Amino acid sequence: MEFATFADRAGTIDAEPADLEIVAHVRDLLADAEGEIEVVARFVQGRVFPAWDSTTLDIGPSACYEAIARAAGQNVGSDDVEERLADVGEIGDVAASYEFGGQQGLGAFTGGGDAGGNGDDLTVREVADTLAELAAAEGSGSHDRKVDLLFGLFNRASSEEARYLARLVLSEMRIGVGEGTVRDAIAAAFEVPEDRVERALQVSNDYGRVARIARDEGVTGLDAMDLAVGRPVQAMLAQAGTVTDALEEWDEAAVERKYDGARIQLHYDPAGMDDGDGSTVETRVFSRNMEEVTDALPEVVEFAEETLEAPAILDGEVVAVDDDGSPLPFQEVLKRFRRKHDVAKAREDVSVRPVFFDCLHADGEDLLEDPLTTRHDRLRSVLVDSGADGDAGDAVADEDIEGLSLLWTTDDPDEIESIDADALEAGHEGIMLKDPESTYSPGRRGKHWRKRKPDVETIDCIVTGAEWGEGRRATFLGTFELAVRAGDEFETVGNVATGITDEKLAELTELLEPHIAAEEGQEVDLEPAVVFEVGYEEIQSSPTYSSGYALRFPRFQGVRYDKDPDDADSLERLERLHGR
Ligand code: AMP
Repeated sequence: MEFATFADRAGTIDAEPADLEIVAHVRDLLADAEGEIEVVARFVQGRVFPAWDSTTLDIGPSACYEAIARAAGQNVGSDDVEERLADVGEIGDVAASYEFGGQQGLGAFTGGGDAGGNGDDLTVREVADTLAELAAAEGSGSHDRKVDLLFGLFNRASSEEARYLARLVLSEMRIGVGEGTVRDAIAAAFEVPEDRVERALQVSNDYGRVARIARDEGVTGLDAMDLAVGRPVQAMLAQAGTVTDALEEWDEAAVERKYDGARIQLHYDPAGMDDGDGSTVETRVFSRNMEEVTDALPEVVEFAEETLEAPAILDGEVVAVDDDGSPLPFQEVLKRFRRKHDVAKAREDVSVRPVFFDCLHADGEDLLEDPLTTRHDRLRSVLVDSGADGDAGDAVADEDIEGLSLLWTTDDPDEIESIDADALEAGHEGIMLKDPESTYSPGRRGKHWRKRKPDVETIDCIVTGAEWGEGRRATFLGTFELAVRAGDEFETVGNVATGITDEKLAELTELLEPHIAAEEGQEVDLEPAVVFEVGYEEIQSSPTYSSGYALRFPRFQGVRYDKDPDDADSLERLERLHGR
């Protein structure tokens, strides 16, 4: 396909406001793309390389301005291009505002000098090949080489070709074609169901290949596409959500700690895979954006090579840890994450540890369509000491399996509260709530994974009662009754029980014991004296408490030593918060 044809079609799409019409134009473009379908399916999205490929053109805007200026003529400099850009605001319009062609120099050898291209038209393939060559240029002189190559292209481009060439080079296609558009267009062009195209895209992360296979092999070809170890998959993402939502929507919730680190996807194959530069490696690690981070994280590579035995793709988080293995804040991971130089030295300062929470592929089997709990079981068996046989593996406690995220499945809000409290106590970010039945949907920020929202608001409540604990906690007061001010009275709003460590309970008991007004069995009435700051998910109307309201999932945040009961929050404020 000639690049002029592509540019012309891109122009039509650019001018089209209606989404459905855009899909129809992309459909026709793909149907006409012939041997260049893979490139066209990428170019139309403004991509030069497949989504899984971390290759970049590695060229800044200024190099692009330089190439445009050179192709535009002797009297034009990069500063002219920048000035026009400041006026016009968009590089495509700027590129289209010049007349190219006829410039001598390298362009002459690469076919320059033929504006609009009579008999020497640029093809989509040539543009793709030249951009691949440009991406590959590295080392000294690579900047000049890249500018020369781009100049060669602009010098042969018409205004419209230049418009889309410039946008492509700077990854700003802006013609309203997103991933969903291309998915629908592939389905429409080759009469294959959208969901099968979607699945093929999820496993391959390659719009070009999926378009070609849909055309040449139909549904059978699409269904035969699998994950490939070594080729990253888009990460499944989480939404913010509450315990209430999770327990309302699912029978049970899978609860995990939310590790405060950086997302990683580990690819391991003992038989080796191409590292992208022609060498063979056993392990590759990718970031959430599918950039390669293998060299920055030797601990993860060592972990994989010591622990794993068969090909696997694992999803997890890399966290920075102190000498005892306790998690350090996220900022510490960043010091390591994309580091290219002096990795060994950086490792001495901050070491990292992987924790995996999902398994997308194990020993030849793709698991994306299996439920979360099955995938987690597979993860467990992949990570369990490979020396142990199946039975022995079962006997190992999850806590003792290095690199395995712990997962609880429960419908009990109190249990979720205490997992949350323990997670926070241990220095994690909180908890994740996941639908135990859900499949792995790459790239989706769906409802199946929820990060528990931090409490947006807290209220200061007076502690008006408590209960003596049981067993190990018999000497501690726990289950604190909370109240708000209503004139001179105190009206109850709920109890806070979970989320408090033994150490803290001892401290609270010492603080509250002098205020015990009456006792009956384990129950204790307290004079209003102590104020707790309490977080919650929501405020509900409720007949259970005297205020007429109940706090859903109250969480103890701390004692307000600076406040007396008179300074605690009022029923009025509770009403206001409820009404929001
Ligand atoms: P956020 O970045 O705030 O949208 O939260 C989602 C991120 O939390 C994910 O992309 C992961 O990097 C991270 N994360 C930490 N622990 C988990 C876990 N147990 N399950 C899933 N994601 C987790």
